[in-house]
Amino acid sequence: MSKVLVIGCGGVANVAIRKCCQVSGVFTELCIASRTKAKCDALAAELAGQTATKITTARVDADKVEELTALIQSYQPDLVMNIALPYQDLTIMEACLACGVNYMDTANYEPEDTTDPAWRAVYEKRCKEQGFSAYFDYSWQWAYRKRFEDAGLTALLGCGFDPGVTQAYCAWAKKHEFDTIDTIDILDCNGGDHGYAFATNFNPEVNLREVSAPGSYWEDGRWVEVPAMSIKREYDFDQVGRKEMYLLHHEEIESLAKNIPEARRIRFFMTFGQSYLDHMRCLEDVGMLSTVPVEFEGRQIVPIQFLKALLPDPASLGPRTHGKTNIGCIFTGKKDGKDKTWSIYNVCDHQECYREVKSQAISYTTGVPAMCGALMLLTGQWAAPGVHTVEEFDPDPFLEALDRYGLPRRVNRAPALVDG
Ligand code: NDP
Repeated sequence: MSKVLVIGCGGVANVAIRKCCQVSGVFTELCIASRTKAKCDALAAELAGQTATKITTARVDADKVEELTALIQSYQPDLVMNIALPYQDLTIMEACLACGVNYMDTANYEPEDTTDPAWRAVYEKRCKEQGFSAYFDYSWQWAYRKRFEDAGLTALLGCGFDPGVTQAYCAWAKKHEFDTIDTIDILDCNGGDHGYAFATNFNPEVNLREVSAPGSYWEDGRWVEVPAMSIKREYDFDQVGRKEMYLLHHEEIESLAKNIPEARRIRFFMTFGQSYLDHMRCLEDVGMLSTVPVEFEGRQIVPIQFLKALLPDPASLGPRTHGKTNIGCIFTGKKDGKDKTWSIYNVCDHQECYREVKSQAISYTTGVPAMCGALMLLTGQWAAPGVHTVEEFDPDPFLEALDRYGLPRRVNRAPALVDG
């Protein structure tokens, strides 16, 4: 029996909400609140009569702590699920602290306005000290640790697939498969085809910022940064086939380097088709990926936001996307004094997702873990005051929930390693 406030009603939230409604025994009441209330109302109307979960809706601007606080105080939820954008992480955490409510999200904080001088000063110091230059990092949310601990509240960060499930896979490997882990390669393969020359599978602004940033990986206790898309490998993915993939900076590397300190190297690779890369390079060359406002015919526009308006809505890709995703981790290390390699991954079919929740697999593989993470918090299976990432909790009940609710794991005891 619980009351949950979901903030955001985009591609990922749609899946998470539909999955919560499949587990009405735990998710007894849901309030869907977002900037555009009409989207919340449409989803609530569609789900009415199909679920025992009692759904209400609200409008909220999650950039404003006072609006959030008023909503949380009036609804009195047990948990706030932030499935809006990374820009809102800090305001929603503030409101949760003000109201004494647990918090979770699916992506770590980054600012919407990267020209803000106060933010930039901290960012530039971090680039120099840490050695990676992505706009997002955990420092902003880790700074809330003591306040959440003192309040006896839990904040669960990054509970999608990657970040999220990939860290639970690491925790599982550490708990059950290895005495020491030497290397971790996280591989995110989307073998799906939506038939468009160029479209992004989740929020275009967040997605394009991520993939156009320099790549980086963790090796021998420090970050190694390389130009965007400069490290390319090929890998033969189960049920998808051979794909080209590129090394990216990714947020879970930062927390894994802290929580699995013996890991000598941690890398993240994502597959991209040639058409996606050609379009991205061209858009970047002409300035369309810029987050800095420009004046156009007397008004300020942000190029990447304008581009978002032109691109297909990721939520509309569901019916036209065919193929599968394969996302997981490959480990090397030692067990009982012997060298060992081992991998764990999930394969998800775009069309099966669409039939179940009217979404493609990218939103599905993020929304299902968000629901399962909420389930862990609401049932007390994960309970630790403070600000935590997924690998800090027991992976066993979480992976069991994922197996049960749509993202079953697969294991390979002799996986091919990524070259080099
Ligand atoms: P969408 O753009 O589809 O949806 C975002 C939602 O947030 C929209 O409903 C939007 O409202 C709402 N929103 C935005 N700003 C505000 C605001 N100020 N106040 C209230 N609501 C707001 O994004 P996705 O569903 O694709 O992504 C959701 C999150 O999931 C992102 O943080 C993304 O980074 C993360 N993600 C995580 C992954 C993982 O594996 N961990 C993978 C993929 C995504 P409106 O309808 O008005 O625009």
